Amino acid sequence: MTATAPAGELTSNAAYIELEDRVTAHNYSPLPVVVAQAEGVWVTDVEGNRYIDALSGYSALNFGHRHPDLVAAARDQLDRATLTSRAFFNDQLGPFCRDLAALVGKEAILPMNTGAEAVETAIKLVRKWGYQQKGVAADQAHIIVMDGNFHGRTTTIVSFSDDPDAHDDYGPYTPGFTSVPYGDLAAVEAAVTDNTVAVLVEPIQGEQGVQIPPESFLPGLRELCTERNVLMVADEIQSGLGRTGTTLACAYEGVEADVYTLGKALGGGIVPVSAVAADTDVMGVITPGTHGSTFGGNPLAAAVGHAVVKLLETGEHQRHAAELEGDFREQLEALQGQGVVGVRVRGLWAGVDIDPGLMTGKQACKLLAGKGVLAKDTHGSTIRLAPPLTITPTELRQITDALAAVLQEARQG
Ligand SMILES: *Cc1c(COP(=O)(O)O)cnc(C)c1O
Repeated sequence: MTATAPAGELTSNAAYIELEDRVTAHNYSPLPVVVAQAEGVWVTDVEGNRYIDALSGYSALNFGHRHPDLVAAARDQLDRATLTSRAFFNDQLGPFCRDLAALVGKEAILPMNTGAEAVETAIKLVRKWGYQQKGVAADQAHIIVMDGNFHGRTTTIVSFSDDPDAHDDYGPYTPGFTSVPYGDLAAVEAAVTDNTVAVLVEPIQGEQGVQIPPESFLPGLRELCTERNVLMVADEIQSGLGRTGTTLACAYEGVEADVYTLGKALGGGIVPVSAVAADTDVMGVITPGTHGSTFGGNPLAAAVGHAVVKLLETGEHQRHAAELEGDFREQLEALQGQGVVGVRVRGLWAGVDIDPGLMTGKQACKLLAGKGVLAKDTHGSTIRLAPPLTITPTELRQITDALAAVLQEARQG
């Protein structure tokens, strides 16, 4: 499928790939697709080839590319005020935080920009709560995290990552974290000490390949945290905001965390917007001057974030994701034994394990791109599928049909 190639500085995909490879740090290894234009679930490359975006910017594009409501909110705000700094109030932040807090069932929001900043903020928040409210001795605050976690790329966050790529050669590392097997409630229980202030958990581990914990894990964790006066911090940066068919992945399990970190889709794919949400008994430990960000809570970000919240308030996108979950699972499970050895689906989010004997996840993604579907491999042989929540059943079928065709061709060698 080719359309008119969008106008740009260079004329071929190869030219942009060569240029980017030459002048950027090699901290990514992108598929050879150069996106020039995007709308909804579709992206177009420099040469006019069209692809379905089945990655959605790691769920930063839950509402698709350039959702009209979000673009309108951004445009409108561009004509009013874009940055004030928090030295002053702005007329966008209050309404945004009021409605975001209501959406996730919390009393207060601390706005930041990127996901890693939200996680850093949550770490500072729970430590301070530990010292001031729980009575933990100075510098003894302890946080339990999960093996296989992904919470971002700052030095403190990579200190407790067990992914050698993310972690190695970035020391010295920040102390104060214990990692336990994901989904193992007994291991969490055994790791809790009197100094434990929080358990930091992804309700579903996205980067790890959409790993879903056992059903009893999150409810059990909730109970344990309450019993031991430990804050449950759910990192919903990738799992939240509709992806799983519920506003928050925790809600799918009927669980309410004490602290949520939000990001990615909160910025509507337009600007980076992240947030920490908590009740005021916890958030109250943050006082003027003790934490901040030049860009956090800026009016442009707040206007876009507010428009995102309004899209989620109707429940329409969550419902759509929940409705398509069954089809998605059925279509992917039909590929078991055809080159697929594992399938995990929640809402419009899937981890598909490719038979490593057949090909790597990266090879599968390259072949998928050749069939007009953009997806991303993770951890060797897994592909992650997370199309925009606005995808139609027909487009969803195009993704799974393309995967079926790729596997069939690979099996036939
Ligand atoms: C992406 C992600 C982050 C980090 O977000 P950035 O915006 O890339 O800093 C943190 N936690 C989870 C669960 C994520 O998926």
